Amino acid sequence: MSFFKPSKHMATNPEFNLELIKKYDKAGPRYTSYPTAVVFNEAFTSEKYIEQAKLSNVSNQDKPISLYFHIPFCDTLCFFCACNKIATKKRDKADKYLDYLEKEMIILSKLYDKSRVVEQMHFGGGTPTFLTDAQFERMMALINQYFPLIHTEKRDYSIEIDPRSVTKESIEKIARYGFNRFSLGVQDVNPVVQKAVNRIQPTEMTSEIIAACQSVNARSISVDLIYGLPFQTLESFAKTVDAVIEMSPDRLSVFNYAHMPHLFSPQKRIKPEDLPKPEEKLAILQMSIEKLSQAGYVYIGMDHFAKPDDELAIAQSNGSLQRNFQGYTTHAELDLVAIGVSSISSVNHSFSQNVKSLEQYYAILDNGQLPVYRGYLLNEDDLLRKAIIQEIACQFALDFKSIETKFDINFNDYFSKELEDLSVMQVDGLLEMNESSFFVTPAGRILVRHICMVFDVYLRKQTSQRFSKVI
Ligand code: SF4
Repeated sequence: MSFFKPSKHMATNPEFNLELIKKYDKAGPRYTSYPTAVVFNEAFTSEKYIEQAKLSNVSNQDKPISLYFHIPFCDTLCFFCACNKIATKKRDKADKYLDYLEKEMIILSKLYDKSRVVEQMHFGGGTPTFLTDAQFERMMALINQYFPLIHTEKRDYSIEIDPRSVTKESIEKIARYGFNRFSLGVQDVNPVVQKAVNRIQPTEMTSEIIAACQSVNARSISVDLIYGLPFQTLESFAKTVDAVIEMSPDRLSVFNYAHMPHLFSPQKRIKPEDLPKPEEKLAILQMSIEKLSQAGYVYIGMDHFAKPDDELAIAQSNGSLQRNFQGYTTHAELDLVAIGVSSISSVNHSFSQNVKSLEQYYAILDNGQLPVYRGYLLNEDDLLRKAIIQEIACQFALDFKSIETKFDINFNDYFSKELEDLSVMQVDGLLEMNESSFFVTPAGRILVRHICMVFDVYLRKQTSQRFSKVI
């Protein structure tokens, strides 16, 4: 829950200030968790996860849970992709994977009290719609067998859709299983860009699938775009933004492509000389923000936009917006139980991640163990900083008094170093601060990650750049 009293600052869209953006153009996390995954370590074992799960039944007694399922398979490989995935055409690979998801579910379902219903569920990947109809049906039957799914209005079940792998009929089937939020990868509608990134997806196909999601009364439809891909220009990406606005999704993410081939090998297929220059990328970003604002979308923060009547925009204006591994959400307070290779759970005061290779995942489950390979147990300081970073990322503001009350600290003493850094940002025009609070200015909004970074104690200690650039 938010500590900050909502204010009129939240309804303001960002202002594009080129000088400020250039000054702060350096790598930083998106804070889908704090601490970020770089501090996870192997001292956190599956035994520790089990302890945290048991503790969560006490501290979050009868409280619903959130389930995440990772489906790692993709039919083809998009060259820009930085996700954990396996490219294959062989659909039967998913049969074996489902066998092992069941093994993991059997262990996990014994850890969580049956009174804890599944209020939120997300299928991510990879490509969840890689599954055939029969595999999807089996997967839903398994989840139903091991976890108490709900069928009321409170249900918040979302799925990532690859428009190339579904039809109107399959969307209707997925909706009948209870999914009410759909998230679609689009990236760019220009055929030249699509060819260069190995993702051919005609605009008509995308708009038909969005229309299919709209026809099943989805609670939200979200579209991902990426700027900074090969051969993109200001004019070409303007057409992409216009085309997507025309399709009228409820939410939009406009991500910056981070070219890091040393970390993500598919990116080696992208030639650096084909990428737009930094000045062009900035112009693309500015144009995207302006077009989306003119079309009535509200800037939620960290690359995300939503229609003013969407639940995310409403949650931001009433102070209940939160952030978790899926980005902005209204359910981050729930224990997140992640299932599948490489997936990350957030349970009680811990994060834990499953092994990243299928071979290891299968071998560990064959031994009857949970496939956790690393994680992190949050301490008091982490919890305090996590709450602050949530507040800034979601509300564009921070009220020092409410933090002092909640965590029993003296804000000025505890954060003297951070306050010095914030003062510099105030002079630069990123925020306005007085002795008891600050809020992020319209010019600071697209740099909100940087303001969060001030409170990241681990980032201060870190030397290597493992994050994408902010812009
Ligand atoms: S972007 Fe999506 S569909 Fe493409 S390779 Fe990555 S996970 Fe698979």
